Amino acid sequence: MSALQSYLTTSRRLVPEDELHAMDPYYQTLYRRVQGEMPGDLPELKVVYSTERSCEIVEADDRWYLIYDRYLGETFNLFTRILYHAKVPDYAEAAALKCIAQRLLSKNKLAEAQNIALLYSLLHPKERLTKNSFGTDRAELTEMQELFVLAHEICHHKLKHDPAFMAVHFVNAELIYLEGSEIATRKPSFTERRKLEKEYGFPVSDRFWKRTYEEGKAHWSRNKSRIIEEILCDSFALGVMLNARLAQDRDRFASLCFRAALLATRYRRILDYCDALADDIAAGRDLVPVNVLALAMMMREQCLRAIFPAAYAKYSAPDWGDENKRFLHMPIGPHQIVGLPSQIVTELNAARTKVTDDFSDLVIFRLPGLINSFRKELNVRDVVPMNRELPSDDEIFEMVERITAPNI
Ligand SMILES: [Zn+2]
Repeated sequence: MSALQSYLTTSRRLVPEDELHAMDPYYQTLYRRVQGEMPGDLPELKVVYSTERSCEIVEADDRWYLIYDRYLGETFNLFTRILYHAKVPDYAEAAALKCIAQRLLSKNKLAEAQNIALLYSLLHPKERLTKNSFGTDRAELTEMQELFVLAHEICHHKLKHDPAFMAVHFVNAELIYLEGSEIATRKPSFTERRKLEKEYGFPVSDRFWKRTYEEGKAHWSRNKSRIIEEILCDSFALGVMLNARLAQDRDRFASLCFRAALLATRYRRILDYCDALADDIAAGRDLVPVNVLALAMMMREQCLRAIFPAAYAKYSAPDWGDENKRFLHMPIGPHQIVGLPSQIVTELNAARTKVTDDFSDLVIFRLPGLINSFRKELNVRDVVPMNRELPSDDEIFEMVERITAPNI
């Protein structure tokens, strides 16, 4: 077995290779787009499918590999389906519970995984969500999001191996960082606080916000250079997306790319948040709605939004498509900033409000309380009928795996 193969089989639960080949040309095409924007030796793309949903670069057998888990794109697609088609909040909460159960299973926390898997199957509506994308741009959104993730990761690789590349862009990224942190440290408005208190039963005292935001700010300044690297990678990834289809209606395509990036960042935030909840469950801690992680992810989204006008200015300049003049990688940089067209602003705001109200707020503010009360009420081993033996670990594992299989 090669070093790469043994790394893959020990780091995640993989589905067999043969099911992947049908998707290969699609991912190779996406990856060629990234390669076209970043000259030089790049890692070889390896597509896997597992509940890890990660995109990472690893070195094995003296070579670099970009390992992309296509379950990540599938999950983005599911989240967008929930946004477009779900009529009740249960779909969003159930999707998050499934992610939490999968994470607990990979941590080998069987009783906890079974608990959350049970709550998932109780909550998930019986009616399946439509896969019909009629009237939506879901398929294009997902494609752009996968491109965004691949390009973002490749930029990390470049920054690591070419410090000069980092130095050239650092100053501009630092400005974006300052702009983002200014917005992200804003106190929630009266209306926002009322909403949290009323809709989610989450008490919001002045002291709580002060403490949480102080922690958030300290976290951002501790991680400043890492956040700046994220800004650079997001910026590069936006450039790759915008370059993907010059022939399309310019503003419609820019709007699609910005929404794709914004939603992908928010989806990642939801997934990271689910992982953090799973870690708290595994450690037997009571769950609380807001933590530093939620704030750190918010900062990243603010910075991303601060890049959009700069990216649009560059994209709408007459020499954007010119191979020689175009600054291939980074939309951020010295340029004349123009505001985003009102149509794009409207579409971005609508997407942001929707994903906040119908997805992330539910997961961040409502789900922890729901899980807490379910954990208190139920110990799964108690519901086994009297005349039956307790399930073995293998049986529990098999059951949770069946309930939370990716393709359901
Ligand atoms: Zn990153």
